[in-house]
Amino acid sequence: MPIYEFKCKACEGRFELLISLSRVNEAMCPVCGSNDVKRLMSTFAAHVSGHSSSHSSNCAGCASGHCGSCGCGH
Ligand SMILES: [Zn+2]
Repeated sequence: MPIYEFKCKACEGRFELLISLSRVNEAMCPVCGSNDVKRLMSTFAAHVSGHSSSHSSNCAGCASGHCGSCGCGH
């Protein structure tokens, strides 16, 4: 089940929900309880796109194995 990030229009809070796509419209803010929320682009999906492989521990894309340059998040 995917994680979606939402922004609450009522309290301006951001939160993430593990929810199926068919139930996204039922999402509500855990802070104020409003269901006036907007789904944001997932940060996870943004990381994956443009990367062919998924790194588990060490980064294969940079020599040091600890990277702030190749964008893999390690
Ligand atoms: Zn809220």
